[in-house]
Amino acid sequence: MTGQTSRRSFLGWARNALAATGVLGAASGAADAAPAQTAEGVDYYDKLGVTKIINAAGTYTALTASIMPPSVQAAVALAAKNPVKLAELQQKSGEYLARRLKCEAALICSGAASALTLGTAACMTVGNRQSVSLLPQQVSGLKHEVIVQKAHRYGYDHALTNCGVRFVEVETLEQYESAFNERTAMCHFFNAAEGGQISREDWIRVAHQHGVPCFNDAAADVPPISNLWAYTQMGFDLVTFSGGKGIRGPQNAGLLLGRKDLIEAAGWSNSPRDETVGRGMKVAKEQIVGMVAAIDWLLDQSDDSMQAEFLRRANRIASHLKDVPTLTHEIFVPPVANAIPHLLLRYDQARVGKAPLEVAQALRTGSPSIEVNPSTGRKSGSAGLPNAENAIVVGVWMLQPGEDMIVARRLREVLTKAV
Ligand SMILES: *Cc1c(COP(=O)(O)O)cnc(C)c1O
Repeated sequence: MTGQTSRRSFLGWARNALAATGVLGAASGAADAAPAQTAEGVDYYDKLGVTKIINAAGTYTALTASIMPPSVQAAVALAAKNPVKLAELQQKSGEYLARRLKCEAALICSGAASALTLGTAACMTVGNRQSVSLLPQQVSGLKHEVIVQKAHRYGYDHALTNCGVRFVEVETLEQYESAFNERTAMCHFFNAAEGGQISREDWIRVAHQHGVPCFNDAAADVPPISNLWAYTQMGFDLVTFSGGKGIRGPQNAGLLLGRKDLIEAAGWSNSPRDETVGRGMKVAKEQIVGMVAAIDWLLDQSDDSMQAEFLRRANRIASHLKDVPTLTHEIFVPPVANAIPHLLLRYDQARVGKAPLEVAQALRTGSPSIEVNPSTGRKSGSAGLPNAENAIVVGVWMLQPGEDMIVARRLREVLTKAV
């Protein structure tokens, strides 16, 4: 990254922050406002009248997940300037990531959900390339059963059933051991599942006794950084991580890591190959490069310094709210997914006069628009977060420099004013 780039991105950030605090006037949101034409190009959010938000929620897909660090943004912009051969880019980026992430092989997919589809397709078709075009409708002659713990069924099941598989549910180790047959294609594990009696080690051991590959979905489970190799080294044959969550790569990128023959077979079903389940899961050259650059960026960070920065943000916000009547705060780190400090704010609603969901709504419709964590005011939120029926939950990790204080001031305003 050149000094000029970093200066420009700083200026861009400073402009947004000033506009956000009202210093530059409220240009954003007005559809007919003349878009800013800068050296970096036209601001299409302004041109389209799309509201820019402060993300005090987390890496939620619907909130466009993360912001790529400046070095990743610069790599994406550079990649856009040259055509290359897609197959060569896919192959070399995969080899590079496999080396850096200490696994046999890697494939950049259009997200963890697409990695789940391509990895499942790989387990069904490995050793039989001609069979990829049979998915998803003519799979009866192929291995097409996926064993899963009942408590690991989740919203991403569709990414697997898109290949035409059917699930075989088990609960106990005994049931698991007797669930295998000649149709078993894969054993699936949801890394952040809150239930399930069978450990990762047992899951892998029994699958391998039957010669069946094991897939671990760890999409949201970075940090810690070492998770990027912990699960492949534990013995999972395939592991996926979302590229646009804690890794802070492009939102439509993800990693499929694991055994060489399976990664190769996953590629058979991937775009740009027609007549495959993955043809619609295209990853552009900019995103492939951005994914690699994000891993380079992440491996230069340390868990300790990232966690310390997140804690500082949480504490800065909490101390700005010290004198809000009855308010107490707690810092909570979920155990597996999104394992970073979240700030939970509790208070006497009768005294303050507003429920957490009303506070969230006031922040959303205010200027700048702030999104707090969606588990705010809810019994069960995202994986691993506690009951927050009576709490405001602030996810601090996706805040950009300076935004923690904007969030703190807005929270204080909303919690202390009778509006
Ligand atoms: C976010 C997530 C996914 C999907 O990831 P994308 O990169 O958005 O496709 C899959 N599984 C789990 C557990 C997730 O949290």
